[in-house]
Amino acid sequence: VQRRALIASLIRDIPDFPQQGVGFKDITPLLGDAAGFRATIDELVATAPAGIDVVVGMEARGFIVGAPVAIALGAGFVPVRKPGKLPAETYEVSYDLEYGSETLTIHTDAIKPGSRVLVVDDVLATGGTLAATAGLIQRLGAELVHVSVLMELAFLQPRQLLARAGLGETAITA
Ligand code: 5GP
Repeated sequence: VQRRALIASLIRDIPDFPQQGVGFKDITPLLGDAAGFRATIDELVATAPAGIDVVVGMEARGFIVGAPVAIALGAGFVPVRKPGKLPAETYEVSYDLEYGSETLTIHTDAIKPGSRVLVVDDVLATGGTLAATAGLIQRLGAELVHVSVLMELAFLQPRQLLARAGLGETAITA
């Protein structure tokens, strides 16, 4: 609980970013604070189930939190990236997000079929990014067993979108 409180205290609200009317949760103060960053990784690791083979993180903040979590769990790390960044053959998926639309890509050979996957990200907003990432993981024949995020923006009702995307049963800790 103390850890959660420290984390929450170091995330700041930036109004009207990246657009008018959107409130942005800025985690850079959290990452920049030694105790805060440590608490962030410890918290994400604590919520992960046993037997994770691979941690998947989405560009770009998912890389920052996902990689240390992978090390701590003894798992590999696989990046999900924006188009044109991954050098080998990719699968891609496009989706709408809170502001605009986005495409995400993953290497077609990034995860062995049947692998147990943990997805880690900073903020769950509309759920679009997570739904798209889950689709990529599924396409590789891997199993998304858990999702760990630092913060869920419940007013955007991400769980409704995720349920419509067939992810209603996926365990998510926020
Ligand atoms: P969604 O697809 O759920 O609407 O948005 C989630 C993705 O966008 C995450 O990868 C997250 O990093 C980013 N994102 C959306 N809103 C915010 C926000 O307010 N703060 C931060 N730090 N990231 C956000």
